[in-house]
Amino acid sequence: NRSASTLLVTGGAGFIGTNFIRHTLVQMSECRIVNLDALTYAGNAANLDDVARDAPERYRFVHGDINDSDLLQRLLHEESPAAVIHFAAESHVDRSIAGPLAFVETNVTGTARLLMACRAYWEQMGRPAAFRFLHVSTDEVYGSLGPEDYFSETTPYDPSSPYSASKAAADHLVRAWHRTYDFPAMVTNCSNNYGPYQFPEKLIPLMILNILEEKPLPVYGDGANVRDWLYVVDHCEALATVLERGVPGQTYNIGGGAERRNIDVVEQLCALLDQRLGRSGDGCSRRLIRFVTDRPGHDRRYAIDAGKIQRELGWRPRYRFETALAETVDWYLANGPWIDFIRSGDYRRWMETQYGPD
Ligand code: NAD
Repeated sequence: NRSASTLLVTGGAGFIGTNFIRHTLVQMSECRIVNLDALTYAGNAANLDDVARDAPERYRFVHGDINDSDLLQRLLHEESPAAVIHFAAESHVDRSIAGPLAFVETNVTGTARLLMACRAYWEQMGRPAAFRFLHVSTDEVYGSLGPEDYFSETTPYDPSSPYSASKAAADHLVRAWHRTYDFPAMVTNCSNNYGPYQFPEKLIPLMILNILEEKPLPVYGDGANVRDWLYVVDHCEALATVLERGVPGQTYNIGGGAERRNIDVVEQLCALLDQRLGRSGDGCSRRLIRFVTDRPGHDRRYAIDAGKIQRELGWRPRYRFETALAETVDWYLANGPWIDFIRSGDYRRWMETQYGPD
């Protein structure tokens, strides 16, 4: 029965979506995935070329926008998904500072259109009890923390950037769809992810590539901003757990319990790569670190209390930060052609506006 096992994924050609699709197809042998992605600069359909080639009966890619209501309606009726997992977003804070409107259009309006289409489908199908809509969000909606506290599911929203404000608006819409229409939606708020297929504008892959090319390593402010890092595979497993056992209307925080200062992460990457590349003495990569003017509105610390998902759904992270960081470095070292491909075109032009030409 196809309708019992088809999952509609939005934004599956991006970093977390790609990892989620790969992971889910392996873990759930009866599952089929439809991936709707607009292929912005951050989306790369080639991430899943091998899946499309090797398992065409289990994977379909649809090039399209979550703002295209007609397409959404057609797709939902064609595919009859048992659940929808919504990753599609503009996701980079620095880009949201330079150009906020795209963030409102995709993250807010796009999420509203997706909710409307999914609810209409769910009503037409007679409100199937097992249907779920999972909205993937960020801990950045909670704003910045002092040195001691943790974000819980009841922490008031206090977003700082246009990115986090647009995700906060989307989270509120999703919860309103549950309260107003009984729509079986859930929200997850996750801390910073790292791992394979992450676009090199984000801290960890940016540093890895700059170290490889012996370019300066730009670190915001004094480098003491703290992030709670989670390996992307742990995030994917948490999402699968919420889809399977989460309660409609509920929110679950997801975090790795791995708080690190940005500067410590950068130094750790320098050490890992120096070891791999045989750099030592004056050639050590730490010499490339440059402290640059802080990001406006830069949140000081994020840290997640993941107690609820652990207690209620039994999920906890499996990977140690140091081990998974080393695996991530090795993935980037082994995937030069992927890096060359996604660094061409739009990405290169945007980086030039930030840091000047190479
Ligand atoms: P990403 O930028 O790598 O991928 C986003 C994907 O969405 C891309 O493939 C892009 O083409 C697609 N997309 C953008 N606009 C679209 C539209 N209008 N219609 C259809 N597709 C569109 O992002 P990511 O890092 O994989 O993050 C995925 C989700 O997880 C986002 O919603 C983000 O807010 C959330 N999140 C990310 C992190 C993190 O550390 N990366 C942490 C917590 C939550």
